[in-house]
Amino acid sequence: MTITQPETTAAPHQRFEPAADALRGRVIAITGAGDGIGRALALTAAAHGAELVLIGRTVSKLEQVHGRIAAFGQAEASIAPLDLERAVARDYDALAEALQQRFGRLDGLVHSAGILGTLAPIEHYDVPTWCRVLHVNLTAAFALTQVLLPALRASQDASIIFTSSGVGRVPRAYWGAYAVSKFGIEALSGILADELGGAGVVRVNALNPGPVRTRMRAQAYPAEDAGSLARPEDIMRPYLWLLSAASRGVTGQSLDCQAH
Ligand code: NDP
Repeated sequence: MTITQPETTAAPHQRFEPAADALRGRVIAITGAGDGIGRALALTAAAHGAELVLIGRTVSKLEQVHGRIAAFGQAEASIAPLDLERAVARDYDALAEALQQRFGRLDGLVHSAGILGTLAPIEHYDVPTWCRVLHVNLTAAFALTQVLLPALRASQDASIIFTSSGVGRVPRAYWGAYAVSKFGIEALSGILADELGGAGVVRVNALNPGPVRTRMRAQAYPAEDAGSLARPEDIMRPYLWLLSAASRGVTGQSLDCQAH
């Protein structure tokens, strides 16, 4: 009789067991750090030793996350208010300048901020909503990455994570601007990874969280039983893998947080 082990479909980044100090000494900036996945990542990264730059638009939420991190008593966090819908060049420059002065480098940049817009057929999609979604989800991520590249290049081992989506890889009816923005994110990630080169110090990857119990998911699926979904803190392993030395040399990948 042959006894076979049950097959696991989880990839290495999904099975990653980070050491408690996996991110010690790393300076990591996260957009959308006040809520949902970005918030969970800020708390998890801080618990693993990272110094956080919390970027977001609602200062009270960022302050709440800052307070939780301070209570850990092991790593510093800074708050960088930035409304990605309204920010102009001088706002991005001010953030880059402040970061450069305080840390002199950046070891991780995670784009988690995003908006859903509306679910509607292309034929009826509201044009101003389309522009807002493309701007917040795609153009702002491009602008922030561009302005922070010098700080990322000053790191010994830097990682950029763009947050993608299943609808950023396979087109789906009614997902309109959101899906187009995520297809754009996949392209931006791949282009930048190619430009920065396989052996460079800055690696660039796109990560799809899969279904996660957040405000955005509830907006997209209001009738769903949210209790069956992963919580943000359940999908942190791939983020920690990509942000830690464990993924050194991995670039230009499109990865999934959850096994199918
Ligand atoms: P949430 O709605 O919980 O969080 C979104 C975050 O983005 C919030 O912190 C929000 O800030 C911030 N944000 C929105 N607009 C702006 C803006 N103009 N300027 C700055 N920050 C802004 O969503 P999730 O945590 O679910 O989403 C995180 C990422 O994961 C997104 O990119 C999303 O597309 C992606 N994703 C999520 C999935 C899911 O199932 N949840 C599935 C696939 C992808 P504030 O709190 O102040 O509004």
